[in-house]
Amino acid sequence: MSSSSGAQSPFSAGHRRALDWLNSGPKRLLIGGEWVDAVSGRRFTTSDPATEQILAEVAEADSADIDRAVIAARKAFESSTWSGISPHTRARYLLRIADTIEQHAEELAVLETLDMGSPVAASLGRVGAAADLFRYYAGWVTKIHGTTSPTDDSRFIYMLREPMGVCALINAWNVPIVMAASKLGPALACGNTAILKPAEQAPLSTVRLAELIHELGLPPGVVNVVPGFGATAGAAMSAHPDIDKIAFTGSTGVGKQILQASAGNMKKVTLELGGKSPNIIFPDADLDRAVDAAVIAFCRNSGQICSAGTRLFVHESLHDEIAQRISAIASQYRIGSPLRQDTQMGPLVSQRQMERVLSYVDSGKSDGARLNTGGQRVGDVGYFVQPTVFSNVSNDMRIAQEEIFGPVLSIIPFRDEEDAVLKGNDTLYGLAAAVWTRDIGRAHRIARALKSGRVWINTYAETDAVMSIGGYKQSGYGREMGAESIEAYTQTKSVLMRL
Ligand code: NAD
Repeated sequence: MSSSSGAQSPFSAGHRRALDWLNSGPKRLLIGGEWVDAVSGRRFTTSDPATEQILAEVAEADSADIDRAVIAARKAFESSTWSGISPHTRARYLLRIADTIEQHAEELAVLETLDMGSPVAASLGRVGAAADLFRYYAGWVTKIHGTTSPTDDSRFIYMLREPMGVCALINAWNVPIVMAASKLGPALACGNTAILKPAEQAPLSTVRLAELIHELGLPPGVVNVVPGFGATAGAAMSAHPDIDKIAFTGSTGVGKQILQASAGNMKKVTLELGGKSPNIIFPDADLDRAVDAAVIAFCRNSGQICSAGTRLFVHESLHDEIAQRISAIASQYRIGSPLRQDTQMGPLVSQRQMERVLSYVDSGKSDGARLNTGGQRVGDVGYFVQPTVFSNVSNDMRIAQEEIFGPVLSIIPFRDEEDAVLKGNDTLYGLAAAVWTRDIGRAHRIARALKSGRVWINTYAETDAVMSIGGYKQSGYGREMGAESIEAYTQTKSVLMRL
C-alpha cells in the first residue's frame, strides 16, 4: 500500500524510505524477539488524515496476543537477561537507541506526519525529543541507587531499588514517538521488560521504532509491541494478572477504566490524562510574546495536545484587544498538507475527531460565546478545521470546561489576580498552566496557587526530558519524565540484617 499524498516533504531521502517501508507489506507484532501475525490473523488499516488514503495494514493484537506478549516479557524479566546485565551495558543499549532514532529521524518524522497529520517540521522536532529522552534515561541507568540507613551497631539496614517487572505501556495517538520514548526510556533504564501498545489511529512510527530497536539486538522479549484497539488489546493489558505495572496516556474516561481493571492484581499505575489548561495574561506582560505564544498554545498539533492552552484568561481591560490580535494571527494560519515545510497546521487525526471538534463549535455558538474567527472545516478531503477563537466565554460553558482536543480557544475575561486563579482552577483538570506578567512576585504567587502539574511563566509548552509532567485532579495519577519516572518504574525493598 502507499501514501498517495501528492505533496513531498522537504526530507526527500527520509520520505522515500518512509514510502518504501510502507510499501514493504503489512506491519506485524513484535513478541519475544519475533515479528508475528496476530493469533486471529486479523489486521486493521491506518490512513493519512490529510488525504484519507490508506497507508498500511497492521496486525491487530487482541487478548490472545497480549497473553503471548506477557509470557515473552515475563520470561525475559525473570531470566535477568535485561535487569541482570551490567548497568553500563544497559546504558549503552539506550544510547544506541537514541543514535538509531537520530539516524532515521526524517523517515520517522515523515511516517508520524503521514499517520497523524502533524506538520513534518514539528514531527522532526519530536523525533529529536524522543532521542533526547533515551539519552537522558541512559544517563540514569548507572545512577539508580538504593540507600543505607543509620542504625545501631548490631544491625545493617539498607534499601534496594528494583524494577517493577513486566510493564504495559499504552499510548494515545497525538505525539506517538515522544510518548513511546517517555515510557520505554525509563522502563528499560530501570531493568523492566515492556509491552507497548500504540494507539490504533497512528501506530506506524512506533512500529518502525520497534524495528530499529529490534535491529540493535536487545534480548528477546525485553521490548514487545502490540498495535491493537483499546477495547480488546488495551483492556486485556489492563486486566492481565501477570502484568506488574501499567503506564497509560490517554483520555480521563479510559484512565478511570484502566484504574478499575488494574485493581485485580494491584498493578502499579501511572496515568497521563486530559487537560483544559489555563493561560493567564496580565496587562503588564510582554503582550507581543504572550499573544504569539497564545496562538501556538491552542493551534500546535491542531490543538491535539494534552497541555494545549485552550482557556485564555485575559484581564478585562485588554480582553477585546487581545481577542482581536489573536484572531488576526489565527485567521492567517497556513493550513494544508502537513508534508509541506511551511504548513503551520495540518489536519485532525480522524473524521470522528473533526466531527467532535465541530460539534463543540456549535455548542460555543449556542451557549452565546462570541465567535471571532474560524469554526469551519477547510476543504472536503482530509480532516482540516480552521483555528477557532471564541471570546467573552463564560467559564461554565462546555467549550471552557470540556477537553475538545482541537484548535478551539476560549477567551475569558478576569478582574484581578484572585479572580484569575479562581477561574483558572475551576476545572476538573490540572495538567498545565501558564502566567504572563513582569511582576515576579505575582508570577511566583500564581505558579503556587494554580493546581497544575506544570506551570510556565512567560512562556508556553516548553519542555525538557528533565521536567516531569503529570496531573493534579483528574489529569492523572503519578508523574512521567524527569527523575520521577525512575520512581515510577521501580519499587523499593528494605533489608534489615542482624550482624
Ligand atoms: P483514549 O483514551 O481513547 O486512547 C488512548 C489509548 O488507550 C489508545 O491506545 C487506546 O487504544 C487505549 N484504550 C482505549 N480504551 C481502552 C481500554 N478500555 N482499556 C485500555 N486501553 C484502552 O485517548 P485518545 O483519544 O487516543 O487520546 C487523547 C487523550 O489523550 C486526550 O484526553 C489527551 O489529553 C490525552 N493525552 C494526555 C497526555 C498527557 O501527558 N497527560 C499526553 C497526550 C494525550
